[in-house]
Amino acid sequence: MPGQAVESQVILVVGGGIAGITAAVEAAETGYDVVLLEKTASLGGRVAQLNRYFPKLCHPTCGLEINFQRLRGNARIKVFTMATLAGLSGARGRYKASVAVSPRHVNANCTACGDCAKASQTQVPNPFNYGMDKVSAAYLPHPMAYPMRYVVAPQVIGTPEADAIRAACKYGAIDLDEQPKTFELAVGAVIWAVGWQPYDAGKIQSYGYGRVANVITNVEMERLASPGGPTQGRIVRLSDGREAKRVALIQCAGSRDYNHLAYCSRICCLGSLKHAAYLREQYADAQVDIYYIDIRAHDKLESFYRKIKADPQVRFIKSKPASISAGENSDPILHGEDTLTRELYDRPYDLIVLATGMEPSAHGVTPALKLSTDDYGFVVPEIDEEAGIFAAGVAAGPLDVSMSVQSATAATLRAIRAVRTNGAAAHKGQA
Ligand SMILES: Cc1cc2nc3c(=O)[nH]c(=O)nc-3n(C[C@H](O)[C@H](O)[C@H](O)COP(=O)(O)OP(=O)(O)OC[C@H]3O[C@@H](n4cnc5c(N)ncnc54)[C@H](O)[C@@H]3O)c2cc1C
Repeated sequence: MPGQAVESQVILVVGGGIAGITAAVEAAETGYDVVLLEKTASLGGRVAQLNRYFPKLCHPTCGLEINFQRLRGNARIKVFTMATLAGLSGARGRYKASVAVSPRHVNANCTACGDCAKASQTQVPNPFNYGMDKVSAAYLPHPMAYPMRYVVAPQVIGTPEADAIRAACKYGAIDLDEQPKTFELAVGAVIWAVGWQPYDAGKIQSYGYGRVANVITNVEMERLASPGGPTQGRIVRLSDGREAKRVALIQCAGSRDYNHLAYCSRICCLGSLKHAAYLREQYADAQVDIYYIDIRAHDKLESFYRKIKADPQVRFIKSKPASISAGENSDPILHGEDTLTRELYDRPYDLIVLATGMEPSAHGVTPALKLSTDDYGFVVPEIDEEAGIFAAGVAAGPLDVSMSVQSATAATLRAIRAVRTNGAAAHKGQA
């Protein structure tokens, strides 16, 4: 802005999902220093947790690994994992950011050899698989983690087991005394790319999630189908290991519903079409029923919808199911009315998958940054030229991967304009 001196040209990116990574590498490759903060133990965000992703049904590792290479090779980017923004003061071009880092208890000497995990007996819920299985208290976040470094879970710190974990490491990588810390940074602009979290399916009482066996969510289905998931990619029921061949996919589970998420997350229909593809690839005799209000397949992805629709073993049933109850042999039973035929149904399935929507990560949490949001918690406006703060990816609204990347590129361009030493003039000229 006119009259504001740029004291720091560093761009701070908060959130290490696909949007944040894209912003970081693009700013750095343009010649700007970047600090990237990620609150979990590794980068990649929700994309890393997908089994495959449309449009081409690639494995997420292929898209992410290209970006990790770009990160690794660029000295301008500093990455802090288990880190978040604790406070921000100042103004565009001269912010002081306070960064809070949680202890990982494993330092950069780690070679990911896994000896620490062998020395650990305690099992903790595996966050990467949404708690569907467990990992030892010394664990690698996932096989393609960046950084490729173990974490020691806080549950064992201070116990004899932690000492055994430290003793097992021949590289001196275990630091049991590590404490939470904060440090300050001078930055000129902020890209806010904190993404989304799955809507809590337990809030949709009538669908019995957490109460009725074999009712799972769409994000859990991604992990179930993944070779790195709790069943090594076999789509089976967690209750008894039986193959899931009769499967119902429920669209708009909580979405477009004023009691839950009033908006459409744009992605869930395509996610379920992808799940139908996973099931049909795995079981030649699978029968998949997709219950929908209307199918929303945006842009070029209409052809993916048409392909799945042509499969005679995938049925599209126009209906918003009323409820799910527990049946015999742990079969969940779906109850409702077909909107087109008015037929009432009570159908047992092996597995029911709830397509829950994307809720903004920061929803319900007061972020260090006082950002304005819409009624749903997404950041508006995405672009705040005056403050030099820009939202990217799903932090600004429900987007797929390619749209998140585009939005990150746009945010990067704006952030660069905000920190250029001649940025004020350029901004004035183009406003
Ligand atoms: C079931 C399902 C299937 C999907 N399948 C596809 C698909 O096949 N193809 C496709 O294109 N899209 C798909 N999507 C959408 C895709 O997941 C999103 O487009 C993508 O995750 C957006 O990336 P992002 O970086 O904006 O957010 P995220 O992936 O959520 O990344 C945000 C990152 O920020 C971190 N973070 C959060 N808060 C903080 C904080 N305060 N400080 C520091 N870090 C923080 C998070 O830990 C995370 O690493 C799917 C979505 C769903 C629900």
